[in-house]
Amino acid sequence: MIIVTEDIKLYNLAAFAAVRLNLIDEDLELDLEVKPDLKDLMFGYMIGDEDMYMIRVAEVDPVTVFHEMVHVDQYVKGRLVRSSGKAFWKGELVPETVPYLDKPWEQEAESLAHVFKDMWEDARCE
Ligand SMILES: [Zn+2]
Repeated sequence: MIIVTEDIKLYNLAAFAAVRLNLIDEDLELDLEVKPDLKDLMFGYMIGDEDMYMIRVAEVDPVTVFHEMVHVDQYVKGRLVRSSGKAFWKGELVPETVPYLDKPWEQEAESLAHVFKDMWEDARCE
């Protein structure tokens, strides 16, 4: 994995998550940038496919960066597949009607993001 960003803290957060997700050896490029204008809309988002991914965050917040890193992992490892406007989680179609926060990839991203945040804080205190 090649991590491209001008922000050293973003780099450190992305690399921290990438190591724990076993993404670091994947042949892909990840580009991260802070976009303060996002603030009123969302914490951040991820777009990408195959070997090129982009993460944009409103601010350099560990949970937000880790959350988006989990989404990268979901696509790279194939847990989440989007095809013809439909989303499949671990091979099962997830209906559009499932509320955003109940979508299984959002639940996984949020819970892992908090696990990583705890690990990140523990590592910082040593
Ligand atoms: Zn999400």
